[in-house]
Amino acid sequence: MWIEQMPNWVRRLYPTVCWRKEDANKTLYLTFDDGPNTTITPWILDQLDELGVKATFFCIGNNAEKYPDLVKAIIERGHTIGMHGYSHTRGLYKNTAVFLQDIEQCAKWVKSNLYRPPHGRITPKQAKLLSKTYTVVLWDVITRDYDASLSPQEVEKIALKYTRNGSIVVFHDSIKAQKNMQYVFPRAVKQWLSEGYTFATLND
Ligand SMILES: [Zn+2]
Repeated sequence: MWIEQMPNWVRRLYPTVCWRKEDANKTLYLTFDDGPNTTITPWILDQLDELGVKATFFCIGNNAEKYPDLVKAIIERGHTIGMHGYSHTRGLYKNTAVFLQDIEQCAKWVKSNLYRPPHGRITPKQAKLLSKTYTVVLWDVITRDYDASLSPQEVEKIALKYTRNGSIVVFHDSIKAQKNMQYVFPRAVKQWLSEGYTFATLND
């Protein structure tokens, strides 16, 4: 439960962070982290076109530097990009100067005011500081598509159980998450569409 959906008392420690758009009316916000990836990102873009929905891609700077055409394609096809750090290193949050440097390096390749910290690791103080410059986005629902110990059916259950009005939902465009994500993401979106939800990007 704590992994899939953070309790409110944790959210309150980060008052400047966007967890969920609570005033949204039957709207969901799909997000894809850790790309762009040459195999998976184009597949997601095609699926999104077919489903007729838009999403937000939190790109790793290092990947965006390697695949600028994919970043361009994401934007050209009507989606939004956000920063997800340059190197996606877990230990970064321990040292604020190094953490900020990594974001600055990412900003060279990912032009956006949106920022999602890698692994969601950020101290309340860092979140407050970064919120002066960026819209810091975490999530309402993490599908755990990256978790190889879960079957695609289990990940689908998580996605459908926790998603609600205004949810910011996390999937990954990474090799690690590919199997679960490719099964769950189109099925879940079809289900949500049938329930009357529409989809929006997180505007920077
Ligand atoms: Zn990530």
